[in-house]
Amino acid sequence: MDLKPQEISALIKERIKHYEDKIEADDIGRVITVGDGIALAQGLEKAMASELVEFEDGTMGMILNLEEESVGIVILGGDENIKEGQSVKRTKQIAEVRVGDEMLGRVVNALGDPIDGKGPISSDRYRPIERVAPGVMTRKSVHQPLMTGLKVVDSMIPIGKGQRELIIGDRQTGKTAIAIDTIINQKGKDVLCIYVAIGQKASTVAQLVEKLRQNGAMEYTTVVVATASEQAPMLYIAPYAGCAIAEEWMEQGKDVLIVYDDLSKHAVAYRAMSLLLRRPPGREAFPGDVFYLHSRLLERACKLNDELGGGSITALPIVETQAGDISAYIPTNVISITDGQLFLQTELFNAGVRPAVDSGLSVSRVGSAAQTKAMKSVSRALKLELAQYAELLSFTQFGSDLDPITQKSIDHGARLQAMLVQPQYAPLPMSLQVASLYAVENGFLDKVEVEQVAEFERALHREMGERHADLLAAIDDRGILDDDMVEELRDAIGEVLDNYLIANGVR
Ligand code: ATP
Ligand code: MG
Repeated sequence: MDLKPQEISALIKERIKHYEDKIEADDIGRVITVGDGIALAQGLEKAMASELVEFEDGTMGMILNLEEESVGIVILGGDENIKEGQSVKRTKQIAEVRVGDEMLGRVVNALGDPIDGKGPISSDRYRPIERVAPGVMTRKSVHQPLMTGLKVVDSMIPIGKGQRELIIGDRQTGKTAIAIDTIINQKGKDVLCIYVAIGQKASTVAQLVEKLRQNGAMEYTTVVVATASEQAPMLYIAPYAGCAIAEEWMEQGKDVLIVYDDLSKHAVAYRAMSLLLRRPPGREAFPGDVFYLHSRLLERACKLNDELGGGSITALPIVETQAGDISAYIPTNVISITDGQLFLQTELFNAGVRPAVDSGLSVSRVGSAAQTKAMKSVSRALKLELAQYAELLSFTQFGSDLDPITQKSIDHGARLQAMLVQPQYAPLPMSLQVASLYAVENGFLDKVEVEQVAEFERALHREMGERHADLLAAIDDRGILDDDMVEELRDAIGEVLDNYLIANGVR
């Protein structure tokens, strides 16, 4: 290029003339375009990824895209008052959320601000919503049980403190119910709970909070809500905010349970944001980093080693499938990130087998290390028996004659399945679960009609509570079932069975 000296100096002068502006431009930018909760701004040259910025009307935004000429900002809140040409200021801060014990019993939004009308939250402690997950050396393997209170889960797919167990299934199969029962079951167990509602209706969340309150679970629970009517960015940050609240407690050596309900909607919100930011779409139109979206979140759940206080975060992410397809993109991603999954089936749910956990497709890869001996002793054969039952059942549809052994397997399977049915909001202590499973596994229910298994169980629990409270306490405290305990248990079950048989004229 041929430039004359005069031209060069004119050019330089021109540049220098705007030098002053340039200093300012580092920290203050101008909005170029705005819409759909996304703003593009010029300037802000030193801005960081995930940094918070403030618009002229006081609305906050978070920087997600750093490009050569501009930055892409997601707006946290309404974008009605943000106009092209307005200024936008850097805050030099990463998004933070309020944390601390004051959060217990409260319902907050994704920024940690209360939305339950119970006044401000007094805590002045904040934590960044994003954090690098604890490294390998700071962790300890999962070894303590986290009881859900559900027979089908605690017996066959046990969960340990610090584990990540996915709850997956079609819509309306009782996914949320399992998570809520688990929260209710933590009462008096020194486990703090966080329920993160992502993309649900406000009315659904309100009902759920009410249920938690009725069951006395709000005392040790925080609910983080980003409803379906909120902008995608709020849905995007909600689980990270919930996790930050959990980390505060974990670092104090406490055990925390966190539920992400659900990550499918989280991924969809992220997809909407990414496409609006013009990031290239990949499989199912999700951006390429959607795996990282969930892996960095779920890696933050862990069991810390003793030097770091031994606290833990147990995560129960929920993912919704379409027509039971667990091989879709988001389900396979999250399955591979977690330590196992509870797979819920519509057919089982509709057949009244609730919780509708499919024992064949559900696994817990680390939880058995945390299962108590008492529970192990009664649950060893369950998975196999249920699988056999499901297989044999298909034969009986042909109406062919069955040999006695097959018939026996079917009869047993039916009673076992009936015993694993459990109503909502009624989690059971480990001892009562053990009693129920011991009864069915040792043939006490062979003469009980399948329809009456539930009633038999209620009678058994009543009897145990009234006359064998010491035994129940011993099972719960010590987690074992020694010979003396077995003897007492057999007597108790035998007595209930006798009463049942007499009442039904069998004997
Ligand atoms: P969604 O896809 O809408 O989030 P979901 O999979 O979370 O649904 P839930 O809302 O937990 O499912 O449950 C669906 C319905 O089934 C609810 O009406 C709930 O009361 C009922 N239900 C769930 N679990 C049980 C149970 N163990 N016994 C009886 N009813 C149950
Ligand atoms: Mg749900």
